[in-house]
Amino acid sequence: MIILKSQEELHKYKESEGRIAFVPTMGNLHDGHISLITTAKKYSPNVLCSIFINPTQFSANEDFSTYPKTIDEDLKKLNASGVSAVYVPSIEDIYPTPSTLKLDIPHLTQCLCGISRPHFFGGVMTVVLKLILQISPQFLILGEKDYQQFLVVKEMVQSLSLPVEVISSPIIRNEKGLALSSRNGYFQDLTTPERINKILFDCVTKAKNSTVKSVIEQTKSQLDFLELDYLEVRSSKDLSPYKIGDNLSQFRLFFAGKIHGVRLIDNISFTL
Ligand code: AMP
Repeated sequence: MIILKSQEELHKYKESEGRIAFVPTMGNLHDGHISLITTAKKYSPNVLCSIFINPTQFSANEDFSTYPKTIDEDLKKLNASGVSAVYVPSIEDIYPTPSTLKLDIPHLTQCLCGISRPHFFGGVMTVVLKLILQISPQFLILGEKDYQQFLVVKEMVQSLSLPVEVISSPIIRNEKGLALSSRNGYFQDLTTPERINKILFDCVTKAKNSTVKSVIEQTKSQLDFLELDYLEVRSSKDLSPYKIGDNLSQFRLFFAGKIHGVRLIDNISFTL
């Protein structure tokens, strides 16, 4: 595995290698990230993973400065997973000057995480665009864990006609069904997040047999021990909200909430 610590090293690497399948991350890697690498290998033997904690997607009161940094362990995991290269750019490689660019795709960003984190998707689009321009990958692999992010980036790539195929990879969960997340490490133990997860799966099971609206309301009251951000059923295709009578499309239950100061998100796919 080659470690690329600057844009110059990246450029030299690109000249010598073929089609790149690219997996962007912010590090603190777990099996969810590693599963993206497994997906990437189906598209190219040349898998490049990046580790960069992107400041522009955090607002002033969020956890940018305390976001877990575990670079030595991350490099060991990446080496074991068989990636060809890891790009660990400096802040100057990505933001040589402060970014004033404002990218937006309002029909996908003005809902769910975009409401409570209005800066978030602009920051994500900026960093992913910069990484795509620097790396020139043929494939970009994103996790369904951040499903809204996947749709936003896919739409950005299409709108700008970028020559990269955006591929989604399924959510990896622990044995209790909790989605793996770097932020799970903030908890002393996972009892509460696992309890939330069970409530969400029960909601999806019940929503098949009852009206969605009332099941969502019941579930919200079950989740009253946390600071709920949203609990909504929307289309997997374009995030349009579920309406009574919509019964052909693929839906997702989207959840975000804060418990003990830690923000958790999840989504569960289902058909009605
Ligand atoms: P992050 O390091 O949190 O920015 O995540 C980097 C990538 O890993 C994103 O595409 C995430 O959607 C994906 N990812 C994070 N957790 C999981 C998971 N549990 N299962 C699948 N993909 C994940």
